[in-house]
Amino acid sequence: MAQAPPPAKKPAEKKPAEKKPTKGADSIYKKYEIKDGKLERKRPFCNRCGRGYFMADHGDRYTCGNCGFTMFKSKTD
Ligand SMILES: [Zn+2]
Repeated sequence: MAQAPPPAKKPAEKKPAEKKPTKGADSIYKKYEIKDGKLERKRPFCNRCGRGYFMADHGDRYTCGNCGFTMFKSKTD
């Protein structure tokens, strides 16, 4: 006589995955900071490409990801 199969386990309830903001939309806000009610840019713009082209902070220098322009930080800060 066949035995009845064990009762099926109820599958663990799946939580709906939290929607994360897209990387692109998220990163732009990291480049700005509100200080004393004023908007401050954390990165300089590229001298070659102009406004809107942020330069990446590489410690002692900034580099433009668009054209590759490198600007060394002045030590007189
Ligand atoms: Zn550039």
